[in-house]
Amino acid sequence: MNCPNCNNEILNENINVQTDIAKCQSCNNIFKISDALADSNSDGFDLNNPPKGTWIRSEMNQLVIGATTRSPIAFFLVPFMVVWSGGSIGGIYGTQLAKGEFDPIMSLFGIPFLIGSIIFWSLALMAIWGKVELTLDKHGGKTFTGLGNIGLTKKFTWDEISSVREKQSNFNYPGSQGGSILLEGKRRISFGMGVKESRRYYLFRAMKNILSKVKSNKNFV
Ligand SMILES: [Zn+2]
Repeated sequence: MNCPNCNNEILNENINVQTDIAKCQSCNNIFKISDALADSNSDGFDLNNPPKGTWIRSEMNQLVIGATTRSPIAFFLVPFMVVWSGGSIGGIYGTQLAKGEFDPIMSLFGIPFLIGSIIFWSLALMAIWGKVELTLDKHGGKTFTGLGNIGLTKKFTWDEISSVREKQSNFNYPGSQGGSILLEGKRRISFGMGVKESRRYYLFRAMKNILSKVKSNKNFV
């Protein structure tokens, strides 16, 4: 058995099966044996067999792993947004344009609708075309959330990251799918919001798998 933290092999004398506790002699990490076994690849997780809606591919010296954020919520959000945003923005600003008169009170009143429209249209577009993608190489990597080339990128190096975990969200909005993935260490990076749970689970396991290879100095690209 290997330490889930530093990946060094655990000496037999540091494993206590009765109490389900083991201690790593290298980094002093104390952990539950059952958790460490559940995290190992003995459950048949196959990095190179991504489920529907996810992908993995090797490019020049890097590995790309991704998942779509496509969601049936789009069938609701798009018509809703056309009516809601069209009605409010058109009503508030369209009438001013049509009359050729600027109305400062009405324009101020419309600002929350403008902000709401931007947020909900982003969600609606993510639910149609969006993706979450990890690009990894031997130095580190980046997470990308967005449409095509437009989106949010967060970069990290491997020495900044020591663990990967799933986080359940305590606040939900349409299309949020209720969770994300956290990369933690010197920095904390979260990604994977809006990805359906089964796809997010693949990203999570893939990232965990690669991180353990990186920490034991194995090549993954
Ligand atoms: Zn350790």
